[in-house]
Amino acid sequence: MEPSKWIDVTVEKNHYSLDHFVIPTHYEKDVSSILIPHGVIMDRVDKLARMIVDEATGPLVVCCILKGGHQYFADLVNSIKKLTTKAGTSVPLSLEFIRVKSYRNDQSEGVTISLTENECRDFEGKNLLIVEDIIDTGATMVKLLERLSQYQPKSVKVTSLLVKKTPKSNGYIPDYVGFAIPDEFVVGYALDYNEYFRDLDHICVISEHGKKAYAV
Ligand code: 5GP
Repeated sequence: MEPSKWIDVTVEKNHYSLDHFVIPTHYEKDVSSILIPHGVIMDRVDKLARMIVDEATGPLVVCCILKGGHQYFADLVNSIKKLTTKAGTSVPLSLEFIRVKSYRNDQSEGVTISLTENECRDFEGKNLLIVEDIIDTGATMVKLLERLSQYQPKSVKVTSLLVKKTPKSNGYIPDYVGFAIPDEFVVGYALDYNEYFRDLDHICVISEHGKKAYAV
């Protein structure tokens, strides 16, 4: 993938100071910097929607990966609905919700996917657009794509708002990426840490204080 297909925010000197934007007071000590302000996220989502509509060849089944993907999914669907293809036609959308849970032990990784056989059979012959919040190692997405391919969809495309640049990556890169981020734990815009920070609009790097404050 050529670099221009995403916005690279991995360079630390480009992170925003907490003084430059409004942060909920209850999180002031819990994040160390603002990586992507909310306004920039929204503008990028509009561009990703434009790219998706430009390449759409028919109706899309837009699949939200819960829970972290829900904010990106909602904003992306809203943006796609306002757009038309180059031929001047709108793209018919249907919406699907998939709960995916990843867990990590020392070396092994596992993924549970909440999809019944009946739901999967509905994907046959459809154009699927998978909407994820973040690709870290890529393990979750590779497992999900393996499972979905068994049900013969016509096409499967993946968009992730964030891709983490990490040595643990399995090399998987989605079709549409918002931002490449550094190998840090990020929160906000529905990305949580033990269910906290979903009420933070900017994407921020969690601080050591935040990790301790919300540890379980
Ligand atoms: P992967 O299977 O690609 O390693 O992990 C994907 C999942 O891990 C994401 O869907 C997300 O739930 C979680 N994850 C990975 N990195 C982060 C992060 O920096 N912040 C948050 N909030 N979740 C993350």
